[in-house]
Amino acid sequence: MAYLTTHPDVVPVVSYRFGKGATNIDRYIELDGYKAARKAIEMGPEAVIAEMKASNLRGRGGAGFPTGMKWSFVPKQSEKPKYILVNGDESEPATCKDRLIFEHDPHSVIEGVIIAGLAVGAKMGFIYLRGEYRYLLNIMEKAIEDAYAKGFLGKNIFGSGIEFEAVSHTGAGAYEVGEESALMESLEGKRGIPRIRPPFPAVVGLYGGPTVINNAETLATVPHIIRMGGAEYAKIGTERNGGTRLFCLSGHLEKPGVYELPMGYNLKRMIYEVGGGIPGGRKLKAVVPGGSSTPVLLPEEIDIGMDFDQVGKAGSMLGSGGVVVLDETVCMVEFALRTMRFYQHESCGWCIPCREGTDWLKKSLTRVHAGGGVDKDIDNIQYLAENMLGRTFCPLGDAAAMPTIAFVKKFRKEFEDHLDGKGCPYKHSLQHEAVLA
Ligand code: SF4
Repeated sequence: MAYLTTHPDVVPVVSYRFGKGATNIDRYIELDGYKAARKAIEMGPEAVIAEMKASNLRGRGGAGFPTGMKWSFVPKQSEKPKYILVNGDESEPATCKDRLIFEHDPHSVIEGVIIAGLAVGAKMGFIYLRGEYRYLLNIMEKAIEDAYAKGFLGKNIFGSGIEFEAVSHTGAGAYEVGEESALMESLEGKRGIPRIRPPFPAVVGLYGGPTVINNAETLATVPHIIRMGGAEYAKIGTERNGGTRLFCLSGHLEKPGVYELPMGYNLKRMIYEVGGGIPGGRKLKAVVPGGSSTPVLLPEEIDIGMDFDQVGKAGSMLGSGGVVVLDETVCMVEFALRTMRFYQHESCGWCIPCREGTDWLKKSLTRVHAGGGVDKDIDNIQYLAENMLGRTFCPLGDAAAMPTIAFVKKFRKEFEDHLDGKGCPYKHSLQHEAVLA
């Protein structure tokens, strides 16, 4: 899989050390590693947070919340210990970027955690890896052990008299724990279901203490921002969307892969220049721009900059940066069904609109795909999905509903073509599974 930037104007930032042996701590240090943590100690917490705000870095997990602002919400005084929590539970279908950071540059995550800890006054960081990423645990544990041996973690980091500890941990394999409050529950050893908010984690988080939760890519970017300066980093991207991010290009492309590109990079160019276009001269049918939970875009809607604001204006979301390209051979009903199967399987079942809604949507989509549907099924699918929106405890309900609404709205004719016993005109294998279901 490709993972290097192909943009001629951009010096790689977060992928700068990929493929350079930086899992070795000495190599990481040679490549400017741990300079930013030393600098952050000299700068002090307020200056670090100011630099982060100037960078316009927005969370790379999906929500796009400004990182500097998030850190500033943590109370300065707290009776309970404060924590930094790395969300490495990368589970959104089509997203596979954080794993490359853990594989190639684990110390950048540790360094980011240390800097976040210095900024908010936390003395402990947890690095939570997705259950299916268990193979990364050895890499992360070795990196942490090496950082302790060098005195970069422990009671007196970098000889500064400041204490900071870090540990890594894996989940058991549940999409739901990518949601930050469910992540904390899981880390505390409980079932990974969300908490009711408020209170928000910045005030009452892990073990009841103020907690900063950031995506792995977000934290791996932090040392680069401190080294180069927030304003310089901000210049790379677009207004209110600083820097670069890792985009995961998958689906019908000549060159699928993970590419570091500036925020605001044009989606059409991303597909046809970076990703090499669609194989076999086939036509583009649709693009899912930010992971499976984001509404699909039509070919005429993709001449947009890939940042949180521009994709939002186009009616979708930048999400986790997982771009899925679908060519004309794809049955959109099948794609909608496969998406819904995932969310129905991953629903934790706590709230009714999500638990029942995803199940009924899966059943309805299965029936329509198999040719057993009638006219009103399409409206019912739309109605069900619309009534899930905003009515669930956590965003999984919306994640299931939003793409479904867009699939029906933009490909209604294709849904209609399946009805009244006709079944899937694409004759894909799922049809047989659906008939059996
Ligand atoms: Fe659980 Fe779904 Fe409700 Fe989230 S929206 S709490 S996953 S049932």
